Amino acid sequence: MAKYYMYLRKSRADSEHESVEEVLAKHYKILQTYASEKLGGPIPEACIFREVVSGETIQDRPEMLRLLDLIQTGNISGVLVVDPQRLSRGDLSDCGTIIRAFRYTDTLILTPTKTYDLADKFDRKFFEMELTRGNDYLEYVKEIMLRGRIASVSEGNFIGSVAPYGYDKVKVGKTYTLVPNGEADTIRLIYSLWVDEGIGSTTIANRLDALHIRPRKSERWSNASIRDILKNPVYIGKIRWNWRKVVKKYENGEIVSSRPKASKDEWIYVDGKHEPIITEEVFQASLARFGKLPRTKPKSKLNNPFAGIMHCSCGRPMIYQPQQKSAARLHCAYQMRCGNRSATYQEVEEEVLRSLRHAIEDLKEQLDSPLAEDTTAYKSVIRTVRKELNALETQQERLYEFLETGVYTSDVFVQRNAVLAARRQELMDALSEAEAQEVSEISVQDKILALSGAVAIIEDPCATAEAKNSFLKTIIRDIIYHRETEIRDKWHPVPFSLEIFLK
Ligand SMILES: [Zn+2]
Repeated sequence: MAKYYMYLRKSRADSEHESVEEVLAKHYKILQTYASEKLGGPIPEACIFREVVSGETIQDRPEMLRLLDLIQTGNISGVLVVDPQRLSRGDLSDCGTIIRAFRYTDTLILTPTKTYDLADKFDRKFFEMELTRGNDYLEYVKEIMLRGRIASVSEGNFIGSVAPYGYDKVKVGKTYTLVPNGEADTIRLIYSLWVDEGIGSTTIANRLDALHIRPRKSERWSNASIRDILKNPVYIGKIRWNWRKVVKKYENGEIVSSRPKASKDEWIYVDGKHEPIITEEVFQASLARFGKLPRTKPKSKLNNPFAGIMHCSCGRPMIYQPQQKSAARLHCAYQMRCGNRSATYQEVEEEVLRSLRHAIEDLKEQLDSPLAEDTTAYKSVIRTVRKELNALETQQERLYEFLETGVYTSDVFVQRNAVLAARRQELMDALSEAEAQEVSEISVQDKILALSGAVAIIEDPCATAEAKNSFLKTIIRDIIYHRETEIRDKWHPVPFSLEIFLK
């Protein structure tokens, strides 16, 4: 006598407004009606598998595992499901497992619209298509959600769930941004202790505790939370996203999640809509204290703002030499052997400033060039394409509705779905191209900002050589100094040249 099982599961394609129980009860009714009409009677309770956990992979679904085990006995004629994706919307390896299990045990898959015999080549092909279709859709939904978030972040909105210390999350129109709150004073204090007083993060934590300033969720400050604050660009009005995204990978056959720091080109780093709490200079000085400080002897004070970033054309570092009766000079560390002549620090600084200003002008020209108009055009392309993608998503939802309610046959569905998929691919391609253009504009603006910061700090009479050096190191990779040995005469010395390499 023929024996059938029934497998019930709520998937992500089902309405969010219905509970697992409601969805399962609805499907149960559909399948029992089908069984009564086509299989000669309802499926007995003992043969019904109800998946109540929401696992996408087979490994996460205990009832599915139990079902697969029973199929192996070979006495089962078929399994009833409302549609193929109830069995799997997971990855290709899951699809393979299911196809093999049903095919080699001659177990049918029965749905109200079609019965699949996986020993049959055409049925198998069609079944595979149905499973991967489900998977594509799931990936697509994730992608769309991600794109929406990226779009929002790129506009400078705050999309995190909890506002960083120092800010409140406030809704403006349809999006969220940050507004400084009473904690902002603590942020300023932390930066001041770190940058101006040079105190360590553990001592800062202890000081705050002593001042009875409480962190948000715990009793005491930790040095880790202090360090996080000191590195977070949200306090200079920036929004950083994707900095640590969750990465899933296989390890010993299991999927494990981790949150490594993303590579720099994967982050989004833009001007936020929110007000900064500290200045760019203070923030750069703070970053500089994290491992980027020049190696100086403990007690000698740094007096060369270009320490570590200026080299003679022979490859040796340029040394700052204060003079008894005249202006300080910069010379090659092996001046005697290399022969490049020295110059006054003042001369070199002026030349560096001139080069930096020149670089800024060049970048600004880049922004003002006809290319920049293209960027504006790209922005409108991005808007239009996003709008169309949204419309497409609605169409896609409707398509699934039509299939599930039986308005469309599977054939019609496959056909319509292919049309939508092709259009979606076109739009996605157009979107990523336009976005790449937009990003390059952001990076030019960032560079201008960084270089302007460098000019400002070099010219700042109040900034110490140490602060200047720390900041310049974040922007300049190297400066190569060159000055010919030959002396024409004392009053007309050979000019020196500088080559600046930015980070
Ligand atoms: Zn040299």
